[in-house]
Amino acid sequence: MNEMNFTVGGAPVDVADRFTVINPSTGDAAGTAPNAGLEELDRAVAAAAAAFPEWAAKSDAERQEACRAVTAKLQENAEELARLITLEQGKPLNGLGSRWEMGGAAAWAGYTAELSLPEKVLQDNDEGRVTLRRKPLGVVGSITPWNFPVMIAVWHILPALRTGNTVVIKPSPLTPLATLRAVEIMNEVLPKGVVTCITSDDRKANIGAAMAAHPKIRKIVFTGSCGTGQKIMATASDTMKRLTLEMGGNDAGIVLPDVDPEAIAEGLFWGAFINNGQTCAAMKRLYVHADVHDAVCEALVAFASNIPVGDGLDETSILGPVQNEAQFDKLSTLVSRAAAKGKVLLGGKPGEGLFFPPTLIAGLDNGDALVDEEQFGPALAIIRCESVEEMLEKANASPYGLGGSVWSSDISAARELAARMDCGSVWINKHGAIQPNAPFGGVKSSGLGVEFGEEGLAEYTDIQVIFS
Ligand code: NAD
Repeated sequence: MNEMNFTVGGAPVDVADRFTVINPSTGDAAGTAPNAGLEELDRAVAAAAAAFPEWAAKSDAERQEACRAVTAKLQENAEELARLITLEQGKPLNGLGSRWEMGGAAAWAGYTAELSLPEKVLQDNDEGRVTLRRKPLGVVGSITPWNFPVMIAVWHILPALRTGNTVVIKPSPLTPLATLRAVEIMNEVLPKGVVTCITSDDRKANIGAAMAAHPKIRKIVFTGSCGTGQKIMATASDTMKRLTLEMGGNDAGIVLPDVDPEAIAEGLFWGAFINNGQTCAAMKRLYVHADVHDAVCEALVAFASNIPVGDGLDETSILGPVQNEAQFDKLSTLVSRAAAKGKVLLGGKPGEGLFFPPTLIAGLDNGDALVDEEQFGPALAIIRCESVEEMLEKANASPYGLGGSVWSSDISAARELAARMDCGSVWINKHGAIQPNAPFGGVKSSGLGVEFGEEGLAEYTDIQVIFS
């Protein structure tokens, strides 16, 4: 059992109340975490506020060095953290699972350490010199979901630290253990109070909601569902917090008639089923031109039929269980409704416990719940279309706008179509392949602002212009 704790300003906090975290592969306890209340939140924010002036006053090179040290710590402890992720999140150690997540976390941390936002000279002439500088905000509140507990924590924490802010992070109550441990490890190389992790079961007190309202938190960076992001935005207006909101998606893939179905099957499968579909920018609906529809379905079924699903700690598993019961129930309902109308090509029925086999359902259309809603699980809706324009129109007819993809052997035609998709990222012949040097964020209801790259870093700063 992993009995995790947290420290505030370097001092261990004794929270008598604890909550149990479940291993979704077995239903057994994976560990326990402190069930903090509003008093602990205030203490954590006060420690972060106290640490801010000294951290902000450090030179850029010192903060860069500290971010490099955090990266090295994540690398050194990657296997321990990967096992914790698997225990509480369910994803396998192997495949695109927890070891891969830790590889991503270290890659993002390392890349962010090397980024910088140097002062810009806007004007320097006889009429004067005008410079633009970036100032840190203060205490950043980070609120994370349960699908990539360490990688998303790194996406929030590292750019905040790199730009001179201090951080209070609150992970999902479903996956707090790996984040607690990751922050503990970061604290081995950071000054006291610079990063604090606070955990709660969301029932004793809604710590996330309290963070959105907290007068001493200057920014919220949130990754999670649209409904929660909208609540945060409403609450944050009282204190004029800066916001980065990475919310839900319902990404569409568009398959043009010139593809080689066998060649794209693996990419299509992982675009949709990475992390068992529990990925914001996973492909959740697939529009396929009628000329290749049957061949694409056949190739997808052939590839998906060979994916081993099982307990994440089993080294042979490539996909694990659904992370939690609420998500499992939502998925089961969407799939059974879709199965009543469409044609189940693979899977379609819940397995034991929280296991759900990779599911492919054709014969669906916009207006069907599995197409219109974010299923966030291992089920892909396939829609047959007669023309490219029909595919584009149906893909864009969504309130979401996170990612999208075009599949074609004609790259320039695919690029033209990509530019007409209403979403923040579009991939060609792949899906969801985010990278640390490319800004990532949603349009429409999928969010506000971007993460990654210089544009993402800038979101942790205010602009100050000096006229002299
Ligand atoms: P969620 O919104 O239920 O929870 C996310 C976090 O918000 C948790 O830490 C939760 O405790 C906290 N929270 C709950 N109520 C709150 C409130 N009133 N105010 C502030 N915080 C509150 O989301 P989830 O179920 O954990 O994650 C799944 C969702 O996250 C999916 O919709 C998925 O698309 C989205 N997601 C988006 C991205 C992205 O980058 N766009 C990445 C991963 C996941």
